[in-house]
Amino acid sequence: SLQPNIHYILKDDILQLYKTRNKWDHKGDLGHSLLIGGSFGKIGAISLASKAALKIGSGLVSIYLPKCGYSIVQTAIPEAMVEVDSDQVLTYFNFKTKATVIGVGPGMGTAEKTVKGFENFLKENQLPLVVDADAINILADQKELINFLPKNSILTPHPKELERLIGVWENDFDKLNKTIEFSIKHQIIVVIKDAHTVIIDKENLYVNSTGNPALATAGSGDVLTGIITGLIAQKYEPLNAAILGVYLHGKTADIAIEETGYETFTASNILDYLADAILDLF
Ligand code: AMP
Ligand code: MG
Repeated sequence: SLQPNIHYILKDDILQLYKTRNKWDHKGDLGHSLLIGGSFGKIGAISLASKAALKIGSGLVSIYLPKCGYSIVQTAIPEAMVEVDSDQVLTYFNFKTKATVIGVGPGMGTAEKTVKGFENFLKENQLPLVVDADAINILADQKELINFLPKNSILTPHPKELERLIGVWENDFDKLNKTIEFSIKHQIIVVIKDAHTVIIDKENLYVNSTGNPALATAGSGDVLTGIITGLIAQKYEPLNAAILGVYLHGKTADIAIEETGYETFTASNILDYLADAILDLF
């Protein structure tokens, strides 16, 4: 069977790949993240992801969502540009934004029109992708669409989403093996989100060392999607963006619990503590 190369991600590894900002950087040098998702009652998910992309330093952030979300995100995130799908659910995917990377899925829903639109989008798209939540659920439902993902796309399933994607596993070893096979077959990166998040890039396996159960809260994964998207915008290789993003996301919670405890910590607090997580590297 496969012999994975196992790496345990520690602060030193993160410092190696972290890029500091340059004196003459312009927002145009720092990438343009486009976040696609949201549906009636789940505009918060795409808002959190978009805020996270800004907060991790993406030069520009655009949001494409159904029209019911327009004034919500324009109010909640004044820094972001917004384009709307003219339907009540994501249907047309006919945005004009020229982004450098797309994060898709948070709060998107799986309405029939959305499934069809997402399929058409995937067949046209050339940009690097971070695929989460309902976008993963659609891929799991229509496995032939996985073949349209650009090489090195990142999928960020939680355990239930992973199960829909690769099927049930017998034990942890089997789960990792199945995910490695999936990653090799499709040439994509899988972030298995859990108490110990594991990032799988073909036969390379990266185990995260940060995070705690404070992160077991609504919207936590949506924030991670935005963080990874915003890092790819800033020209991190997708694998490095996943490793750095997962590490910092977990670190926010490790720092925060001293003040918030586990229960009062919410997904928005991940963003509040992102600065501490970054500064802790140095
Ligand atoms: P989601 O289920 O999509 O909201 O994603 C949850 C996020 O929180 C993932 O990044 C998980 O790794 C993280 N998370 C959830 N529960 C825990 C836990 N008990 N310990 C550490 N991280 C967690
Ligand atoms: Mg999620």
